[in-house]
Amino acid sequence: MITRAALGCRLCWTITGAVFAMILIIESLILVPSARRFESEALRLLAVEAQGAVDAVLAPLAVARGAPDLRPALEPLVGRLHIRGLAALRADGSVAAAVGELLQTAARSLGGAVDPSPAILLRSEDGSRVEVSWRNDALGAAGFAARLDASHVRGALRAYVLRIAGLVALIVLVVTAGTMLVLHVLLLKPLMRLRESMRLAAQAPERASEYSVPSRRSDELGEMIVAHNSMLSRIVESIRRDREVAEARARILSHHDGLTGLPNRRSFLEHLSGRRAGDGAAPGVITVCIVNVVQLRRVNAAMGQQTGDRLLWEVGVRVSQAAGAGSFVAHLGAGRFAVARRSGDPAFDAAGFAERILRDAAGEYSIGGDSVAADLRVGISHAPCAACSPEELLNQAELALERAGAEDSGGYAFFENAMAEAAHERRSLSRALERAIGRDDELFLAYQAKASLSGDGMAFSGAEALLRWRHPERGLVRPDVFIALAEATGLILPLGEKVLRRACAQVRDWLERHGRSPRVAVNLSAHQFVAPGLVGLVAGVLRETGIPPALLELEVTESAAMRDAERAASRLHELHELGVCLAIDDFGTGYSSLNYLRRFALDTIKIDKSFVDDIGKDPNAEAICAAILGMARALGRHVVAEGVETEMQLAFLRSHGCDEIQGYLYARPEPAAEFERRFLQTHAALRVAR
Ligand code: C2E
Ligand code: MG
Ligand code: MG
Repeated sequence: MITRAALGCRLCWTITGAVFAMILIIESLILVPSARRFESEALRLLAVEAQGAVDAVLAPLAVARGAPDLRPALEPLVGRLHIRGLAALRADGSVAAAVGELLQTAARSLGGAVDPSPAILLRSEDGSRVEVSWRNDALGAAGFAARLDASHVRGALRAYVLRIAGLVALIVLVVTAGTMLVLHVLLLKPLMRLRESMRLAAQAPERASEYSVPSRRSDELGEMIVAHNSMLSRIVESIRRDREVAEARARILSHHDGLTGLPNRRSFLEHLSGRRAGDGAAPGVITVCIVNVVQLRRVNAAMGQQTGDRLLWEVGVRVSQAAGAGSFVAHLGAGRFAVARRSGDPAFDAAGFAERILRDAAGEYSIGGDSVAADLRVGISHAPCAACSPEELLNQAELALERAGAEDSGGYAFFENAMAEAAHERRSLSRALERAIGRDDELFLAYQAKASLSGDGMAFSGAEALLRWRHPERGLVRPDVFIALAEATGLILPLGEKVLRRACAQVRDWLERHGRSPRVAVNLSAHQFVAPGLVGLVAGVLRETGIPPALLELEVTESAAMRDAERAASRLHELHELGVCLAIDDFGTGYSSLNYLRRFALDTIKIDKSFVDDIGKDPNAEAICAAILGMARALGRHVVAEGVETEMQLAFLRSHGCDEIQGYLYARPEPAAEFERRFLQTHAALRVAR
């Protein structure tokens, strides 16, 4: 059955068309000569008939012998058997007797009539007449010529050709249909299946073998289908293998740390949960130690990232060796290693285990010819294997790590429940702080006035903006608590920006309402100081508020500035270029490097309150204060002493050339309105007598 598919198949039509054309050509090649043969046979029969008739008439005459007049004998033949004219010819070609229509070829053809069977000599143009001749020595005639009516031969020939052509058409039809059918069954169907299989396999190569084509054929097409099916299987196989390799790679990458080659945090957690092959939940206790390389950041900054990376790798090796067989060691990132140790003994000596790690892995490392000291701390948590929650164990060890740095801890600390409570408290406070940053009613600035000591008394000379947070339930939260929290959580950046904007807006407001404003100092945390957008932010806020840059002072703590002295120097320089004043806060508590002080673009040094506190109590503190004041004078820097509470402190500072003081003795931090009333509304208030 020729389906629509076959009729729509271009390939089938091409092949069938070619077959059709070929049959047509062959048939026409056969038809032309056979038509000719048909015609000449018909003419020959005509001639033979005429000859037979002449012979029949002559036969009785031959019995009579002699040379009779043939005319009367031949006459009756004219008009019969398609004979239209007859001539008896002599050997020299002359006509012995002629009847009926005149022959045109008689004399010419006589000589050629050597054959007793009739030969066609002439055919009229329209084919209605033929002239034939034959030899016949009887009765003195050398031969006979006859003019015959052949008009019926053309019709018979046409009918013959039509019959043959009809037959050919029928054959062509049958052959074409048959070819279509055969092509459809033998070629098109398998080809279409192949095409469909390829299309589906291209859409879902991972399932390609499902689309293989069934075939039992042994011809070329069958071979092609077999090759196609095997190609599909190979595609599936190759995709499967590629995927396995990729999965294995991803598994390794996702479970290992690229830096140390050790398992990573995820792998560690899987190990703790006993999910990894062969680990089963064993009885006993599991101890988790987090080992932290304390000064990694400093090593990176001072000796380069490569040295830091190498140090980590080496520490990983030593920690693994110290932990020994049966321990699982991972690198959690950022210089933190985690060690898990299962023990069947509930009284497993975790402290001894941590001490061993510290003893073997802390200390000197030789890296690229340099000696690098690795200071390690260990936080420890442990729990019964059966009740172990991997995340919790790890978190507890992290919390314990924070205590491990405390003095007399020996470099390690165990987790205690109070730590979790403190962490919980920190988390909830951090959420509250984040919310407060998004609001306008909880955070506000207090201003603490500073006094100049240039004359006899104290003259109001500026202010420091100090952030305050009034928690809706807890009331005022201490700045050192929430500032440290903001630093630890990264909230310090939006918080610091808010403070900067508020302080500058306040200066703008005072300028507009009083025509003057004190210089206001804003504290920058270490994170803010190194943040990439700081200079742009300060410039932007100055532009937006339009205040003179000299009315803004930025305080950077000494520890923040010293973390990366090179970067700090260029950052301070950039800020200085904006025209703002720069102060170093809490001076004396960190490195207190004279060299850096000289290089930094600083206007003011603020002596830390802890030294001021001890004036009159501790000669060393007094010596430090005096030294800082002398040094600052030598370097041409302005000095502010913080936390001045007593007259005695004031007298000491004044006598050693301190420029300014800040402390409860002069003023406490006050809300903006109060500060404004005391220091800005009355000119007289600017000077406060001793
Ligand atoms: P700081 O910048 O050294 O600020 C001086 C601190 O000493 C203030 O504490 C101030 O109230 C206090 N103080 C000043 N004079 C006296 C005194 O005579 N006696 C006593 N006992 N204390 C005095 P506060 O406001 O608690 O701030 C503590 C620290 O919090 C600040 O130290 C500063 O490091 C940080 N801080 C405060 N506000 C901000 C801020 O807006 N941004 C940043 N990044 N840090 C801030
Ligand atoms: Mg300050
Ligand atoms: Mg300070």
